[in-house]
Amino acid sequence: MGRFDDERVEMIALLKERGITDERVLQAMMKVERHLFVTGPFINKSYEDTALPIGHSQTISQPYTVAFMTQELSPKRGSKVLEIGTGSGYQAVILAEMGCRVFTIERHLDLLLEARRLFERLGYRIASRGGDGTVGWTEFAPYDGIIVTAAAPDVPEPLLQQLADGGKLVIPVGDLETQNLRVITKMGDTLETKEVRGFKFVPLIGKKGWNGK
Ligand code: SAH
Repeated sequence: MGRFDDERVEMIALLKERGITDERVLQAMMKVERHLFVTGPFINKSYEDTALPIGHSQTISQPYTVAFMTQELSPKRGSKVLEIGTGSGYQAVILAEMGCRVFTIERHLDLLLEARRLFERLGYRIASRGGDGTVGWTEFAPYDGIIVTAAAPDVPEPLLQQLADGGKLVIPVGDLETQNLRVITKMGDTLETKEVRGFKFVPLIGKKGWNGK
């Protein structure tokens, strides 16, 4: 039994109450210890349903948001998934735990290096690189799923191009205050879009994102 096991059980119960039904998502979030991705003073809040600071004005996403986005992405074992915004590495590890082949991009190099250390320590094989993820990662495209964990002013075209036929892009789009989650499915030449209101992410900064330093 680990130190936070009871808290994690409670977090899963809350996610179910809030409408998360995908057992694969719930199982992965039960197995992965979120407190390992949370730093110092916030560790005791690791299993509260809230985003927490990870440095550089960035946050590890709220558990409900991770669960909801992953459920919408609905990846299968062996799916090739690209994540934009590695941050703490938590979302990437959830996907890897579900059996996905994960590729992840982070623009803050020290966050990336810390996440990489954690991937290694926990034994996950996740491909990662530093840089601007708004242009995607062409080398390994197309992807069965692309998940963007920062708020975009609009859908970056390169990400749509790098989506496989039948693939899904999950991305928060809106202003800097609040965003809607778009779930876009590529069907041949057409895109099917579903939108869910009321999310709050840190900004996606880059060539096809917001301007920033
Ligand atoms: N998925 C992360 C959430 C981190 S918050 C987790 O589970 O912890 C979003 C992250 O996106 C931040 O770390 C931020 O630095 C990063 N980011 C913002 N714009 C980016 C861009 N254009 N390319 C890559 N990463 C970006």
